[in-house]
Amino acid sequence: MSQSILPTIVDLSGQTSAGVYESNRGNFTVKLLVLHDTVGSTQYPDRNNLGVDIAGYQSRFNTTLRWLQGDGGVSAHYLIGPEALGGNIYRICQEGWVAYHAGGSANWPSSWHAPDGTFYQGNVNGVGIINWISIGIERWGSVDETPGPKQTAALLALATDIARRHNLTPGQIVSHKELEGDRQDGVTLLAAVRAAISQAQAPANQPTAPAAPVAQNPAPAPAAGQPSNSPSDLIGAGLNKLIDFLTPKGTTNAPTNAAGTQNPVYIGGTLSQGVAGVVPYLGAGVVKNNGTIIRDKPANDAQALRNLNQGTTLRLSAYTDKGSNSGTGTRWYLIDAADGGGWIYGGALN
Ligand SMILES: [Zn+2]
Repeated sequence: MSQSILPTIVDLSGQTSAGVYESNRGNFTVKLLVLHDTVGSTQYPDRNNLGVDIAGYQSRFNTTLRWLQGDGGVSAHYLIGPEALGGNIYRICQEGWVAYHAGGSANWPSSWHAPDGTFYQGNVNGVGIINWISIGIERWGSVDETPGPKQTAALLALATDIARRHNLTPGQIVSHKELEGDRQDGVTLLAAVRAAISQAQAPANQPTAPAAPVAQNPAPAPAAGQPSNSPSDLIGAGLNKLIDFLTPKGTTNAPTNAAGTQNPVYIGGTLSQGVAGVVPYLGAGVVKNNGTIIRDKPANDAQALRNLNQGTTLRLSAYTDKGSNSGTGTRWYLIDAADGGGWIYGGALN
């Protein structure tokens, strides 16, 4: 089995405007890798067959680079440059940053059905939830051209490395087109990237070792139509469950959404904009007392939206420590929109 070598990454993140990313992910983790082609993400005809010379490609590439560093109001974590310039990998945002690459818009909200059944849609702190949980790679080029071999090798090596480090399965790699209805990009090398990640995670690629003792909890056979999981996938899935607690697929006690289905829904918060000090947060809390008032802002005198009773479990999207003092402190939590939205003071939750 050949293993791609990750080329040197040219780190340009220090040049990127603070206006096109959030500097940390809160407690969100990377669950998704989004592929883009620059035609569709920028206003430029960034093709590999433009018929210009090296200087011409360099000039156009510099313009595209600046677009993703702030000029366009959007960003990405990585940009793979033109084939004519070597298909180099440039880092635009650090992976710990929330780059604005797939947040959607009012008319075309971005959303994703994750392999574990979680549905992501909406905004946290005014930024699309998809951005909070994803890494974005832009490839210079159009969806209707064949990428060059240098670009292809760079993208496969980079995507495989990201998938390994963040425990992403092929089902967690998507094109931008799959997330937003008005976008057509990201499909060019999607199948090749998924295949490369699948191959890299195949059991045959694991180091050979003496047979392990019988597993205490053998993995169940995958259901028909579901991709099989490698051991590393299962470890990653276990970690993810610990991290975000959200609804392991197939369990009978998974939280139900408003429609009463077993599919968990996570659609972010809608009342977080304009609130000071909002920190994205993926967690849960249980209401302590009957008649707890949920408000539209983190303030004692804000509009009351509804009352909740003792024992109600709430999924939470964010918190702020700059709410009004409830008598138990100034921390308030933003209830996930899937659980009705609104703000609840920290002292009201177990
Ligand atoms: Zn895109």
